[in-house]
Amino acid sequence: MAEPIRVVVIEDEAPIRRFLRAGVGPDEVAWIEAATGEEGVRLVAQRQPDVVLLDLGLPDQDGLDVLRGLREWTDVPVIVLTARGQESDKVLALDAGADDYVTKPFSLAELMARVRAAVRRAHVATVEPPSVVQAGDLRVDLALRRVFQGEREIRLTPTEYRLLALLAGQAGRVLTHRHLLREIWGPEYEDATHTLRVHMASLRQKIEPDPVQPRYVRTETGVGYRFLVG
Ligand code: CA
Repeated sequence: MAEPIRVVVIEDEAPIRRFLRAGVGPDEVAWIEAATGEEGVRLVAQRQPDVVLLDLGLPDQDGLDVLRGLREWTDVPVIVLTARGQESDKVLALDAGADDYVTKPFSLAELMARVRAAVRRAHVATVEPPSVVQAGDLRVDLALRRVFQGEREIRLTPTEYRLLALLAGQAGRVLTHRHLLREIWGPEYEDATHTLRVHMASLRQKIEPDPVQPRYVRTETGVGYRFLVG
């Protein structure tokens, strides 16, 4: 049987910690609980978990500061728990090194899917980065810098390709507008979200069977984009 996933939960609301523990048993997840940022950081260092769930609203410290502190010494996947509608918090958390976020109230099924995906990505990253990303009929060859729909090659502009390659190279992860703009156009373009939207629209025209309902590159409203492989 597979080992349980070891998760440190840094969350001051006891009902949420109980909800997790009651919903997902110890065979699947070993929950390691902390009610404050300070305790959480100590447990991450001591217990070396597979994933950290981090509430952004903690009593003793700002969750973002906890995240920045963790990122100074560990690459452990961090999924932040945010309140509904706080898009700016999600963006700040992703830019500070969070791997993903879940909005409260969340479903356990959704949370566990995110946790498993984070564990998988962390595992793949330690082996070697993928050179080919396949999603349905779409194949992005990152080594050859070519994109195929089935047997047919799709011609992309250099900017469209760069956009797709960044997202596909970190499939399953949300990349923020700011991150994409900085990587493709440079730091002075960090706020040029309109430019990004224009290129995303033309990329979708070429790769998506239905650009109005994208299946490969999902919009994360107010935050960024996520490439979906499943
Ligand atoms: Ca809280």
